[in-house]
Amino acid sequence: PTYTKDDVRRIVKDENVQFLRLMFTDLYGTIKNVEVPVSQLDKLLDNKIMFDGSSIDGFVRIEESDMWLYPDLSTWTILPWGSEYGKIAGVICEVYNSDRTPFMGDPRNNLIRVLREMKDLGYTDFNIGTEPEFFLFKLDPTTNDPTTKLNDQGSYFDLAPVDLGENCRREIVLELERLGFDVEASHHEVAPGQHEVDFKYADALHAADNIQLFKLVVKTVARKHGLHATFMPKPLTSINGSGMHVNMSLFNDSGNVFYDASAESGLSEDAMYFLGGLLKHARNFTAITNPIVNSYKRLVPGYEAPVYVAWSGHNRSPLIRVPAARGGSTRLELRSVDSTANPYLAVATILEAGLDGVRNKIEPPKPIDRNIYVMTEEERHANNIVDLPSTLHNALKALKKDDVILNSLGEHLAASFLEGKRIEWEAYRQDVSQWERKQYFEQY
Ligand code: GLN
Ligand code: MG
Ligand code: MG
Ligand code: MG
Repeated sequence: PTYTKDDVRRIVKDENVQFLRLMFTDLYGTIKNVEVPVSQLDKLLDNKIMFDGSSIDGFVRIEESDMWLYPDLSTWTILPWGSEYGKIAGVICEVYNSDRTPFMGDPRNNLIRVLREMKDLGYTDFNIGTEPEFFLFKLDPTTNDPTTKLNDQGSYFDLAPVDLGENCRREIVLELERLGFDVEASHHEVAPGQHEVDFKYADALHAADNIQLFKLVVKTVARKHGLHATFMPKPLTSINGSGMHVNMSLFNDSGNVFYDASAESGLSEDAMYFLGGLLKHARNFTAITNPIVNSYKRLVPGYEAPVYVAWSGHNRSPLIRVPAARGGSTRLELRSVDSTANPYLAVATILEAGLDGVRNKIEPPKPIDRNIYVMTEEERHANNIVDLPSTLHNALKALKKDDVILNSLGEHLAASFLEGKRIEWEAYRQDVSQWERKQYFEQY
């Protein structure tokens, strides 16, 4: 909903709001907040709240660190965790430079820029529906630190009493609904201790906002239940990891552009080109959709996560699936993304990849309706199936060579992302792991 300044003033009074939580997201997808007392409300509504951006990852240098926060009132919400002093309201903000130009190191501002380009092409909305998965681990009862003990041994769609996460998941759903989320489903996932909550699609910007709030809610509620929720893509070896499938569709004034009732498949030409663009750039945007070292431990054969660049209408092993729904719900499902992605960056790169397909009429390859995991290397080769990058390092190499994807990030974000991730990879590759010692220490 969009609120006016007066709506906000009224809500603050009626609901006894005492604190305002001003939220934004850093380069690495971590939600940050500055909390101000309600006495600062007028300043906030007039875009006069300043903060020091120098200590935020991927933000600015010391000499230009004073930045403004501009609240986006369409994200205004009363947070479900009141304090004894009164309620806390939250609002997502855009970051502006001290000279009052939009700060292009703010991933949300960048997505707004990319969405403006989309609108210039005649589209009205890029709609995004996500399926985030996460694990619940037990907290140590004495220290309250997270352990690696799972909280149940349930499996796909299991019911209590096997599914001990059920109460926690139910409370997550209730809190989300209180925040205005339209939760469509929640269920136990395939792995023990693993869960998924699906909420209704939204336009790209608000979908990214929702993902950020969602992660905050899941972590907060889990704590109350003595549990640690993690979105780490592969917390445990040899069981499924956690992904965040992204369902997408493009709209113009006459509706869903991906749908064409007269086509045999029900898919429009533009849907096919968009798909062609996604597949063409998939290897190169993987560093953005799967941004941490651990992301690549999930993208391996045998755990329902994609490994190869291919698409299908039936089979679930490829990178992109076209779910059966048609009409207004016609959509593409990208299955590689995980929740450690900065949602603003991920959505911007995905959109730009698809639009590149539309602009340049990129035809997708033929669908692969067989299980790719069981194909031999020769068979994959014969079908032109390449694999996704196997490490963060390879993903970064691919990203660096793709101007379309780099442009979707903008200069500031592209440079700080590549540099930050280079450092992360360097740190990882110098670490000698337990696995290596177990494997080599005595043998050699
Ligand atoms: N957990 C799987 C993944 O890593 C997905 C499982 C599913 O939703 N079918 O992507
Ligand atoms: Mg699902
Ligand atoms: Mg799932
Ligand atoms: Mg799915």
